[in-house]
Amino acid sequence: MNGQAFTVHAPGRVNLIGDHTDYAGGLALPCAIDLGISISGTHEQGRVELSSDALADTVTFDLDPAVNIALIEPQWGRYVAAVAVEVNAAQGFTASATSTLPTGAGLSSSAALEIAVALSFGFSGSPMELALLGQRAELRAVGVPCGLLDQLSIVFGRAENAMVIDFADNAIEYVAFPNDLDIVILHSGQERQLADSEYAERRASCELAAKQIGPLAQASLTDVATLEGDLQRRARHVATECERVRNAATALRNNDPITVGDLMTQSHASLRDDFNVSTSVLDELVERLNTLSGVYGARLTGAGFGGCVVALCERGAINEPAALTGRGWIVRPSDGARQRAI
Ligand code: ADP
Ligand code: MG
Repeated sequence: MNGQAFTVHAPGRVNLIGDHTDYAGGLALPCAIDLGISISGTHEQGRVELSSDALADTVTFDLDPAVNIALIEPQWGRYVAAVAVEVNAAQGFTASATSTLPTGAGLSSSAALEIAVALSFGFSGSPMELALLGQRAELRAVGVPCGLLDQLSIVFGRAENAMVIDFADNAIEYVAFPNDLDIVILHSGQERQLADSEYAERRASCELAAKQIGPLAQASLTDVATLEGDLQRRARHVATECERVRNAATALRNNDPITVGDLMTQSHASLRDDFNVSTSVLDELVERLNTLSGVYGARLTGAGFGGCVVALCERGAINEPAALTGRGWIVRPSDGARQRAI
């Protein structure tokens, strides 16, 4: 309704383990977090005006299904315009976004923005439709052929729970996150530009490998050994990462953080050595975290190429994460995106 006030919120997410597995039909163990993007404003027929405290310049455009998204400036407005097209929005809004999520850091600010914007347009389909819409908008906005990890975590998050997602059929199983553990996130200081990164190349390699040996999530190391060079290493990462996710989920259910932490650190090594998406700064951070008492394990989180590392810690082991790299957070597993008319 024109003039109707609204406020929506979409959390970011942290992936505890299972990166570069979603688009390969594999497994991941993420949770939504208590950092995110909120949008408040009023509905307005036919146009969008959105400011953001995270980035300069207001996004303004008239709603038009034939809009040329590549021409929208500032660039972050392309996510907004892509969501408008996907929602087929007739009603827009004048609103402002406030964010506690770092952008371009592997905590999924782009998907949080997509989902918050879709809710701002009054999206009213099912949660699964909302997640799929966000994924399509990401491709439309910046050409990143992302998997569904970010959008599913953000839409289906549940307070105090991590979630095991099986991307073969997008089934989600919740796992209670133990009270006596902390999730610590440290920003490496390296901002990542996913659209410019080698993400699409990695995905294409996984698809090529799967053509030769079948779905990588189920591939055995014997299957993987039949591949050559880089393809073999990429496939080995996906196959072993899915196994690590299965084992980490079991260990989390059994309240065995030592095993979860070991698997996280092994995951980092696999992302570094087989998938080649780490950086020396991320490697050093993981090593440093692993020397601290009360840290069970650490790894880069998200697509890599910079961004954040995540550590599983004994409660209170790291009291001031920001003191370590300048930017850091202790986060709790949180509820998914929500919408509220006011
Ligand atoms: P990530 O999703 O890991 O944070 P991406 O590179 O996928 O990193 O997305 C970051 C981009 O998303 C930013 O460059 C910006 O275009 C957009 N974005 C994220 N958060 C905001 C925000 N609060 N306001 C405006 N744009 C945002
Ligand atoms: Mg993103």
